[in-house]
Amino acid sequence: MGLHKAKKIRMKNQNLYKMRNICVSGGPGAKKSLKEYILKSTDACTLKKMKIHPTVNQLIKWFDTKKRDLPWRAEPRIPYRVWISEIMLQQSQVHTVIGYYHRWINRFPDLRDLATATLDEVLKTWEGLGYYCRARNLYKSAQILMERYEGHIPEKSRELSKLPGIGPYTAAAIASLCFGEQIVTVDGNVRRIIARVFAIDKVIGRKDVERLLAPFYIGQPAGRLNEALMELGALCCKPAQPLCSDCPIRHICLAWKRGSVEQFPATAKRKHIPHLKRFGYLVLQGNTIFLRKRPLNEMLGGLWGIPLSEEEPPSPFDAEQAILPEVRHTYTHFRITVQPIVIKPSKMKNRSILKMGKFIPLEEVPSLALSGLDHKILSTLETYLKGFPWENSQLDSEKEER
Ligand code: SF4
Repeated sequence: MGLHKAKKIRMKNQNLYKMRNICVSGGPGAKKSLKEYILKSTDACTLKKMKIHPTVNQLIKWFDTKKRDLPWRAEPRIPYRVWISEIMLQQSQVHTVIGYYHRWINRFPDLRDLATATLDEVLKTWEGLGYYCRARNLYKSAQILMERYEGHIPEKSRELSKLPGIGPYTAAAIASLCFGEQIVTVDGNVRRIIARVFAIDKVIGRKDVERLLAPFYIGQPAGRLNEALMELGALCCKPAQPLCSDCPIRHICLAWKRGSVEQFPATAKRKHIPHLKRFGYLVLQGNTIFLRKRPLNEMLGGLWGIPLSEEEPPSPFDAEQAILPEVRHTYTHFRITVQPIVIKPSKMKNRSILKMGKFIPLEEVPSLALSGLDHKILSTLETYLKGFPWENSQLDSEKEER
């Protein structure tokens, strides 16, 4: 290479690093610089240095030998099953999802089975996995697919993302894995890999990641490469203590080369999580317990539960009471401590409370869909009553959401 050309490349790289440093500093012009940095990072000169094609080939080869044998990866891919697995994986770990996935497929083997079930059955099958809005959205989507798409899952990501609960990532994953659409999937794993490979310690948006990844996808089946990147994020480029010595793309990873992997990716500041305190009313009458079915527009909508109140009894009940041990539970946006109180009313002072729910025989309670918090509260009642037919075996998840 001539001296002039080498000097030009050196200057170009120096400018690139200068720009990167401005983005990292977060000072004035940082946002503009990040954009420029990303544009320049993917220019021909930089990409040539990154040896795009050999890198992609190495990654695919690694994926073919190291990938986990997961039930939803069985070939040929069945779009319904891929959809279910992608929704389950949105907020749950693979090892948790596997059992739920089998249970779901046994109960609802195809779209028609899901669409014709009741919401109670759907929630019961999902029970314990948390984030119940995912189950409600699956159910809603199944009905839309039966009504408007003749029971078929759309092939294009644009069409898929019109369904409830399907965002850009899930739509791209289903479309690329099942229907060969050339589209990049960007999840937390992929963002982390990109932040490390390009040493960007600012929070980067989906569009920026797509832009940086675009050259890697040229001439490659997107589905396979998407899956290889996700697997790399799960097995090697993990959030903590990444296994760089096993990484098939470490030769292009700036963070690894500089020994600064733990600095990436940049994390957004943690928000303060509020802590709520409530009383849980375990109202018993004979062999029945008073439960409330939460309205669909409420958190944990469609699930049965113990009535909670900010106020300590005296309640609408004239009653004998017993205080049980406190129960703690963590949701994504808040923590809650519940003080369960057993109430055996001799007479109801306020009968309007009955409109909130109904008395259910104790032996029927285990067949209802209940949240993790309610499972915990009912466990304390089981200990108190001894002989109450309660099983708490389904509770796997600590975190739940709407
Ligand atoms: S070398 Fe390490 S930090 Fe870089 S992509 Fe691989 S696992 Fe991630």
